[in-house]
Amino acid sequence: MDYRVHAPAESRPRPGGEFVLYWMQTTQRAHDNFALNFAIEQADTLGLPLQVYHGLRHDYPWASDRIHTWILEGVIDLYAGFAARGINYAFWLDEGTESYTQWPAGGRDAAAAPVHRSPLTVHRSLLAQLADRAALVVTDFFPTFIVPRQVRSLRGDVATPVIAVDSATLVPMAYHKKEHGNARGIRPVLMEALPHYLWPADNPSPRVQRPVELPFDPVRPTAESIPSLVARCDIDHAVAPSPMFRGGTAAGRARLHDFLTTGLRHYADLRNDPNEPDAVSRLSPYLHFGNLSIHEILLAARAAGPGEQYARFLDEALTWREVSHNFCYFNPKHRTPEGMPAWAREQLREHETDPRPVLYSDEDLEFARTGDELWNAAQRSYLRDGWMHNYMRMLWGKAVLQWTPNAAECLRVLEHLNNKYSLDGRDPNSYGGIMWTFGKFDRPFYRRPIYGTVRYQSLKAAREKFDVPRYIAAMS
Ligand SMILES: Cc1cc2nc3c(=O)[nH]c(=O)nc-3n(C[C@H](O)[C@H](O)[C@H](O)COP(=O)(O)OP(=O)(O)OC[C@H]3O[C@@H](n4cnc5c(N)ncnc54)[C@H](O)[C@@H]3O)c2cc1C
Repeated sequence: MDYRVHAPAESRPRPGGEFVLYWMQTTQRAHDNFALNFAIEQADTLGLPLQVYHGLRHDYPWASDRIHTWILEGVIDLYAGFAARGINYAFWLDEGTESYTQWPAGGRDAAAAPVHRSPLTVHRSLLAQLADRAALVVTDFFPTFIVPRQVRSLRGDVATPVIAVDSATLVPMAYHKKEHGNARGIRPVLMEALPHYLWPADNPSPRVQRPVELPFDPVRPTAESIPSLVARCDIDHAVAPSPMFRGGTAAGRARLHDFLTTGLRHYADLRNDPNEPDAVSRLSPYLHFGNLSIHEILLAARAAGPGEQYARFLDEALTWREVSHNFCYFNPKHRTPEGMPAWAREQLREHETDPRPVLYSDEDLEFARTGDELWNAAQRSYLRDGWMHNYMRMLWGKAVLQWTPNAAECLRVLEHLNNKYSLDGRDPNSYGGIMWTFGKFDRPFYRRPIYGTVRYQSLKAAREKFDVPRYIAAMS
């Protein structure tokens, strides 16, 4: 059984189809891509060419210059990577004409308001036109954000079967039979499966290589044209591209190389020091957009060693990353308070009436205007760089609970700030990380106000753990 393939019961190729379509969504790479490989296999069996379609909409939640720029930078590499393999790849940029979607919107009352438009209104036509002509549509399997809804929507719209393939995790999400409540539970399962899955992926070329007629002129961004392409899109222009990162596979490989040559050897000792960002990989945005595979990263890290550093890195990149995917895959409520463990939800409800030291407005939180300089510095790293160190994310998330009236409000704020600003946001790890703030994957600790027995981490006590003034200065 191929655990990577998620196919509806009736998935036979449509007779008379002109090609196999790979609708690229979240695995934005031309290599180590199981969905692509599955599409090639199907195209070869049917004696048909393969067409890759990659569209970028203007109206997905939190669409901004930062996210668009990253994706367009990656598209430059995708054209080169697909051309090298003799694969037809076409990118379409939907500039949009209406105002961008704010979802969930900023205000406190807005969580309940249905403000987002249908996710397929604009792109359906091009995608559906291609899908209508295809024998089979293959796409990426992803357990959160708009992806499950988009796949469902296309399945409802076209007669051609739509098969989703999981390239996101090392051990396929469907390999697990259940939701694991914590890292301790999933770790032995992953470690047992590791030797079966940690292998270099095949990168075949399709047998039939002929062009497919397209219903649009593909967009070909260059480094020079990206700013003007982004400026034309109807998206949030207030969130600027990150000065810290460049998107795409080539930049991801450069980052991986730097980490393996300088950072990995310090990983176990320095990974909890926010003043040592080079001791961690900063690969999370490349993993989120699928620019690099987890296979490539782990194989390279294992070869680079040393063994005990690799083991620590493996625990984050495999255990913690995949327990988050497992959570989103098995728990459809992962974006809501029901995604919190029952004991923690109960504790937080019991302590809802505890007095808060202060309640900040959404704007004060978003623009780093709280009374705590360390928290503000952490938030500034999201605002400016689009990335935050893991240790700071933990402090950042925990602190907001005492500044918001209840857990549901806190969740709404954290999701919005994390997904709007962090390049690696809108990911299963986003929900794993945010829900950890509310006791997910954790056990009860000693009781205290507001948090009950949910673990608390103090911003004040951080001064004993690392050089707080240095971190604040770096984020000024
Ligand atoms: C409140 C909160 C919000 C978070 N939001 C996100 C998010 O939106 N996107 C995101 O990718 N991660 C998120 N995390 C998890 C973690 O902080 C980041 O994955 C990590 O900081 C990324 O930096 P890195 O690539 O240098 O990690 P490294 O330490 O180099 O680890 C390598 C990879 O392992 C994975 N990983 C590491 N730590 C974790 C973790 N605690 N949980 C899950 N996977 C992990 C990531 O894919 C990471 O790229 C969040 C954590 C918290 C507490």
